[in-house]
Amino acid sequence: MDTLLTSLSSALHSYQSPLPLYVTLSLSLLLIAAYVTIWRRYARMIKKYRNYLRYHEVDEQTGLKNMTYFLQRADEAIAELRERRVPAAFFYTDLTHFHRYNMTYGFEMGNRLLQRIARELRLAFPNSLVCRISADHFAGIVPLESCRVAMLNVRAALQPYARREETTLVFGLYAIKPQDVFRDADDVMRGLERAVTASHFAEGQDSGDIVFFDKELEEQERVREHVIKDIDVAVEQRWLRVYYQPIIDVRTEQLFEYEALARWQDPEFGFLPPYKFIPALEEERTIYKVDTFILAQYGRDVEASRRAGEQVFPVSFNISRTDLEACDIYGHIEDIIARYRLPRELVHVEITESALNGWTFSMQKAVRRFHELGLEVWMDDFGSGYSSLNTLKDYDFDVVKIDMDFLRNFNEKSQTIIRSVCRMCRELGIRTVAEGVETREQFAFLQDAGCDYAQGYLFSRPLPLEEVRAKMRPYYEGAPDATVPEPVVT
Ligand code: C2E
Ligand code: CA
Ligand code: CA
Repeated sequence: MDTLLTSLSSALHSYQSPLPLYVTLSLSLLLIAAYVTIWRRYARMIKKYRNYLRYHEVDEQTGLKNMTYFLQRADEAIAELRERRVPAAFFYTDLTHFHRYNMTYGFEMGNRLLQRIARELRLAFPNSLVCRISADHFAGIVPLESCRVAMLNVRAALQPYARREETTLVFGLYAIKPQDVFRDADDVMRGLERAVTASHFAEGQDSGDIVFFDKELEEQERVREHVIKDIDVAVEQRWLRVYYQPIIDVRTEQLFEYEALARWQDPEFGFLPPYKFIPALEEERTIYKVDTFILAQYGRDVEASRRAGEQVFPVSFNISRTDLEACDIYGHIEDIIARYRLPRELVHVEITESALNGWTFSMQKAVRRFHELGLEVWMDDFGSGYSSLNTLKDYDFDVVKIDMDFLRNFNEKSQTIIRSVCRMCRELGIRTVAEGVETREQFAFLQDAGCDYAQGYLFSRPLPLEEVRAKMRPYYEGAPDATVPEPVVT
């Protein structure tokens, strides 16, 4: 220490600066202070930048990486798996009815469910890229082998929290091909979109709600996008058609009325049955355009029948639950009834049992409103849900259509159920229709069970008006005309 002090004092003594010593010292101090300030600022900037990156890469809710990160890093994840010669796949998940889950249990529970899903996915794919890419959607790049088992495990782990009838996790997958190239975010997006497409078809599949993208799905997706985009053109150009299926009075074996069912004759994609366009339009909440078209077309058919002196029969037509929210369905129906001068007793509204689940109050109101319009309300697919007896208690339906599953599995048990439903409904003052009647044996059973009406291929498939009329003539010639005398327009 002594030597250090001695050498320092000799250095100061020998210091030969042109500036006085105190000036040199002050300048050094100033330089040090400036250095510290600049360094601090720099450190703050780095921290801010890191937070910025974190904010833009990490999903705060679940702690997983987000969409930005996914698009930037998926190519690396794929390259790494390719290097190890591990076949890989994009996956995308959809949480069905999550909106309803949030409405029923609250957002706090909804958030917790998302966090659980994130945790299960991380556990199932510990070394893979797994991200939350938007509200209730997760995506990732995972090894192809055993990913199905891992996904089933995720679903099983979530079962207690996301009860199946309320919300369920479905997976869409795209197995990456050796020739696929991933150069930038656009390439990654294309792969992801294929997994998204597959997820649209995953719900309710035998494969455990896990579906791989293939050529057939690609075509289905094209149809889906087309019907969503061109529903107005389809209405305007009459690509939409009404097919009528007879409903027979079981007692008299005469034609009672028709159910009006939608078909889409497309100039590009050809003939489309309802399952190819109805679910997509229901999701888009534009299905009311189909439903109101069907009723209006019935109105036009009634007008034409009157002009041709043909007999007119009542019709039941289908409405979807979203019709009640997406438009003024009552107003639309009123307009059509007025425009075609339809007697109200000819028009029956079918609402499926599944549409009632979780919406008791608003659906009770809807049934009341239809009754106020003077229309009968029919419950479709009765027995397909889990709370069928409640629906009989809570709603005021005029007719119940027994789900065709009961006749499809035509055994002693199903017969007992049909018998009991018919008896119970009769006591409640509700009439019954059995759907899916395909054999004489089934029809004879329904006569014995006291069912009021029968609908099914035994009599006819749904057909265009001209054809069904020709086919059903033997079932109504001589029967009393259902047409109430034409109303007087004031
Ligand atoms: P849904 O209302 O339950 O209609 C009955 C379906 O069962 C019809 O299928 C009909 O062709 C079929 N079917 C009738 N009898 C038999 C039978 O004996 N055996 C078998 N295996 N099937 C039979 P479709 O026309 O393909 O309609 C399917 C579903 O699409 C309808 O089921 C309905 O939920 C929906 N849908 C059809 N048209 C419309 C519409 O205009 N609006 C709305 N919202 N939904 C519609
Ligand atoms: Ca129906
Ligand atoms: Ca039905």
